[in-house]
Amino acid sequence: MPVWIDTHCHLDEFAVHGGADFADAERARAARAGVAHCVLPAVDLANLQAVRDMAHRHGDSYALGIHPLYTPQAGDDDPQALALMLEQCMGDPRLVAVGEIGLDFFVPGLDAERQEQFYRAQLQLARRFDLPVILHVRRSADKLLKGLRELPVRGGIAHAFNGSLQQAQAFVGLGFKLGFGGAVTYERALQLRRLAAELPLDALVLETDAPDIPPHWLYVTAAERAAGHPPARNSPAELPRIGALVAQLRGISSAELACATRTNACAALPRLQGLLARDGGH
Ligand code: ZN
Repeated sequence: MPVWIDTHCHLDEFAVHGGADFADAERARAARAGVAHCVLPAVDLANLQAVRDMAHRHGDSYALGIHPLYTPQAGDDDPQALALMLEQCMGDPRLVAVGEIGLDFFVPGLDAERQEQFYRAQLQLARRFDLPVILHVRRSADKLLKGLRELPVRGGIAHAFNGSLQQAQAFVGLGFKLGFGGAVTYERALQLRRLAAELPLDALVLETDAPDIPPHWLYVTAAERAAGHPPARNSPAELPRIGALVAQLRGISSAELACATRTNACAALPRLQGLLARDGGH
């Protein structure tokens, strides 16, 4: 059975909505499906500790950062508090990146300048601690790239990537891997599917972004929701099926894709390499 890495999973949200037992059960279900490791990104100061504890509980890894959608409620001093937390956690091998950080120009009503301010402050932290970054990219690839050119970091992952080939190549040129997940399972996502099929194999990592971005087989239509069906919730347990689909798009075996994307995840997140070796991964 291929062994997979979910490079982006908000497992702590399962605990928020369904309790710790539910999060544990979902993680265990993912493990049975072949997901050996999950990277758990934080979204703001309020969930840093939960994410860290959860990574330790399951033998996973974590990233610490302030997500662009959480910048409205974040305090002006939060990047400084994040710096202290990073300093405290640098000795923890399960800390693998600064994230989730970035820019979102899709969700209306967000202050673009404030988002940029937090993005740049956190790129500075990634530089100071020599950590890679996990980037949230939504209608913001060019602005993110501009920030990276001005404040270079040691690479990372452009998560849930959905840009052009040119933007993909620019991220790769700056040492980034591109995260593919549920969005690639939709037949109408032609450009994204083309990227997943044609980018060099060493540019790809896999992720679920669970509980967000459900793959098409979990999708709940507006009509079903109106009829009382609960909204779809993605799970790290879906990663092997997403991986199998990407492998099929590329015309390679699932085992080959699982192996390559694991290597790529370790290249993007160098501390992950030592962690997987230490934990006696597969
Ligand atoms: Zn995320």
